[in-house]
Amino acid sequence: EVVTRFAPSPTGFLHIGGARTALFNWLYARGRGGKFLLRIEDTDRDRSTPEATAAILAGMAWLGLDHDGEAVSQYERADRHRAVAHELLEAGKAYKCFSTQEEIQAYREAARADGRSTLFRSPWRDADPATHPDAPYVVRLRVPHEGTTVIRDEVQGDVTIRNDQLDDLVLLRSDGSPVYMLAVVVDDHDMGVTHVIRGDDHLNNAARQMTIIQAMGWPVPVYAHIPLIHGPDGKKLSKRHGALGVEEYQRMGYPAAGMRNYLARLGWSHGDDEFFTDAQALEWFDITGIGKSPARLDFKKLENICGQHIAAADDAALLHELQDFLASTGQEPLSGAKVDMVNKAMPVLKERAKTFPELLEKAHFCLTERPLVIEEKAAKNLTEDSRAMLSDLTPQLQTATWVRQDLEALLNSFAEDRGVKFGQLAGPLRAALAGRAATPSVFDMMLVLGPEETRLRLMDAAA
Ligand code: GLU
Repeated sequence: EVVTRFAPSPTGFLHIGGARTALFNWLYARGRGGKFLLRIEDTDRDRSTPEATAAILAGMAWLGLDHDGEAVSQYERADRHRAVAHELLEAGKAYKCFSTQEEIQAYREAARADGRSTLFRSPWRDADPATHPDAPYVVRLRVPHEGTTVIRDEVQGDVTIRNDQLDDLVLLRSDGSPVYMLAVVVDDHDMGVTHVIRGDDHLNNAARQMTIIQAMGWPVPVYAHIPLIHGPDGKKLSKRHGALGVEEYQRMGYPAAGMRNYLARLGWSHGDDEFFTDAQALEWFDITGIGKSPARLDFKKLENICGQHIAAADDAALLHELQDFLASTGQEPLSGAKVDMVNKAMPVLKERAKTFPELLEKAHFCLTERPLVIEEKAAKNLTEDSRAMLSDLTPQLQTATWVRQDLEALLNSFAEDRGVKFGQLAGPLRAALAGRAATPSVFDMMLVLGPEETRLRLMDAAA
C-alpha cells in the first residue's frame, strides 16, 4: 500500500509551495488507493504556534486535501524518538560523545590549521565505556566513514554522497532532546510512509536520514525531491512576487478546483494538458511527470485555469462555494430571494468569471434592489431621449413572451422602428436594469429578472 505524508513546520501560513507538496502527496496516495497522512513538525518550540497549525489545516481543508487519521504531532513523540536513539546505543550503532563545544571548536581549528577536513571526528567513537566520565554527553550515530551513501531519487536521479563527508550525526542533545533528523526518520517509519515527496531543499537531509534508516535496518522509502517554485522572473519565490500564503488565494476568490489544477501543473505535467478535473489528475499524476527544473508562478495561467473551472462547474456546487467564499471573507452569505436569483443567473454568471468577486460583480444586477443606485457612467445613458424610449418600450414588454428569441425579436424591431442602433437601446437598458454600464447581456438580465421586475426597473429609470 502506498502511504504518503505532508510534514509542515507550523511556523506561519500554508505556503503555496507547501500546498503544492501536500497536493502532490495527496494525488499520489489517493490516485492509488493509498493513505495520505499529516504530521505537524512542531519540535521547534520557539517557532511553532497553534495558529500556524490552524492555518495549515484551514488551507488544506479549503483545497480539499483530506488526510487519513489524526494529524501527528512530532513533538509529542519525543519519547519514542529517544527510545530509538537508545536502541541504537545499545546495539553499538550509536555512542555517547562527551566532547564539549570548546573541544569541538579546538578540533576544528587544529584541523583547519593542518589543512585537514574540519568534519568533527569524536575521540569517543571508539572509547571504552569504562573510561566514560560522569559528564553530560550527546548521542551520536556511528556513521560508516568508508564507502558511499546513495539516495535513489525518483526526480533527481541517484545522488551519491561520500561517507567520509558525513559526520557522526547527533541524535540526542545533551539535554536528552532528540534532533529533528531523527524525529523525521522515526516518524516516517512508524507511520508506514512508503513515499517521501517533498521540496528539494531537503535533499541534503536525505543522506543523513538515510544513515539512520540503515542503522535501524528499516526499509528505505521512495524519495522524490521536487524543485522549488520560482517567481515569474525565475528567481526564488518571495513576497515581492505576490501572494505566498494559500489563504490569500482563497481570499482573492479563486475556486479551489482551479487552484488544485494550477498547483498540480506547477512542476508536474501530463503532455500538454493544462485544464483537467480532479478525477483526471488523480488518474494521471505520477512522479515520472515531475520536472527537474523549478516551476515558475504564472498568474495569467492561474486565472485562465480558474476561469475554466468556474465555467465548467456544476451550478449548485458553485453557489455553495460562493457562499463559503462570502463567509470566509467575512461577508454576508446570500439568503432568500437573492439565492434564487443567483441560482437562476448562474449559467450566465459563470461565463468568463475567473474569481468569485468577478462572479459577484456580474451578479450585481440580481443582488441589487429597487430603487437602483445608478452609477455615474451608466447615468450618462439615461438622457431625456433614452428615458422616453424606455417609457415607450415598457408597455410593449407587457405582452411579450419571456423567452430569449421573442425578446430579441421585440427589442430589435423596437430599435429599428425608432431608427436607433441596438447599442443605443442597450446602454439605457443596462442602466435601468443594473444601474451599471458593464453588465451581462440585456437579454440575460431580463430573463433572470422576469417580466415584472424588468418592467418596474424600466419605469423607475424612465420616471
Ligand atoms: N517540516 C519540513 C518542512 O516544513 C518537511 C520535512 C519533510 O518533508 O521531511 O519543510
